[in-house]
Amino acid sequence: MIESDVIIVGGGPVGCVLANKLSNELNLKCLIIEKRNHIAGNCYDEYNKKGLLYHKYGPHYLRFKNRKTLNYLSKFTKWIPGEYIVKTYVNKKLYPIPINLETLEMFFKRKFNSKKDVENFLNQKRVRIKKIKNAEDFILSKLGKEIYENFYKNYTIKQWGIHPRNLSKTITGRLPIRINRNPYYVKEKLRLMPKKGFTKMFKKMINNRNVTIRLNTDFNKIKKKLKFKYFLIYTGEPDRYFNYKFGKLNWRSLIFKFKNYNKKFLQKCVQYNYPNDYKYTRTVEIKHVTKQKSNHTVISKEYPTNKGDPYYPIINDKNLRLFKKYENLMNKEAKNNIFFEGRLARYTYYNTDEVIERALDLYLTLKKKFKTIRSQKSSIRL
Ligand SMILES: Cc1cc2nc3c(=O)[nH]c(=O)nc-3n(C[C@H](O)[C@H](O)[C@H](O)COP(=O)(O)OP(=O)(O)OC[C@H]3O[C@@H](n4cnc5c(N)ncnc54)[C@H](O)[C@@H]3O)c2cc1C
Repeated sequence: MIESDVIIVGGGPVGCVLANKLSNELNLKCLIIEKRNHIAGNCYDEYNKKGLLYHKYGPHYLRFKNRKTLNYLSKFTKWIPGEYIVKTYVNKKLYPIPINLETLEMFFKRKFNSKKDVENFLNQKRVRIKKIKNAEDFILSKLGKEIYENFYKNYTIKQWGIHPRNLSKTITGRLPIRINRNPYYVKEKLRLMPKKGFTKMFKKMINNRNVTIRLNTDFNKIKKKLKFKYFLIYTGEPDRYFNYKFGKLNWRSLIFKFKNYNKKFLQKCVQYNYPNDYKYTRTVEIKHVTKQKSNHTVISKEYPTNKGDPYYPIINDKNLRLFKKYENLMNKEAKNNIFFEGRLARYTYYNTDEVIERALDLYLTLKKKFKTIRSQKSSIRL
């Protein structure tokens, strides 16, 4: 038997935050079980042979919705500004993305003199759709056919392997649409990168003698040998936890291909999107964000696929119905002191700051529960 006060399945952001809080503040022994050979989940970054820091599972543009999560993470890292600028390659030109005033001016080859001017223009372009049912309707109704066809349609098909007509409107709705010249990829103003990388930050977070980590260990393969005293926290896929009782949830995955170049920089900014050309969706030169000084650079290309690690939940009616069934089972497990959290377990496209905030909230629930369990145990002893 392998015993611990708390067992945490997954050493990603959620697992690390909970291990940090439970071990430090409640003095509980935490065992993290991680099937990969490293912690930090999909935020993992490492140095390659050329000494370049790169994001192994795609670029992670950390930003904050609020100061609460920023303040918490600031205990474990210093910051550099997050310069997240993305361009998209359409008809042999690079356009700012998300769509902004400059994109519209370049694409339609005209100037806009005022906000009203651009609003009137877009009003003429918009397709009138009474009920927005899917990702295609959403863009057509906001920006019209030309922008939809050139910037969104093929990118979405490549990224998801599904026509935008069959995808939830929330998917294209995630990207802002701007009628100003704001060039930043994300809408949040608090855009920051851990100065020495994500992995260092998460390592510091769990640097406590109450925390033990077992890497290269799949929970599903050893669960019969595990025993927890207070809590089990599971951050993996829900369908796998319940042995696919109701069927499999669909995920979209990516293959990352990295190549080093003996050049200071290859791109003008961190990311180029390719909606209409090539099999990959984007090329990323993370050095624009990590701000490393080097005569070398590394570029990654992302090829979407249905096989491989689960990266993106595919949000459609069928999957959401299936997830609801698993969610009911997960909720019932709370009475056994088993809790589910994170981007995989909640089958939701959460950003890093969002899962960290959720993990901090879950900690408060666990703290209360822990006090109740402790008081019950001491009253039995009396
Ligand atoms: C391609 C990509 C790009 C992203 N870009 C951004 C971005 O720009 N900005 C941003 O804020 N966020 C981004 N994210 C989201 C970010 O990665 C997540 O929000 C965050 O990593 C979620 O943390 P988590 O702990 O819930 O899950 P994860 O990071 O997925 O960690 C879960 C861990 O659990 C382990 N695990 C699962 N099942 C088991 C098991 N049975 N046994 C043992 N271990 C198990 C996994 O191996 C994994 O390490 C991106 C995600 C992806 C996939």
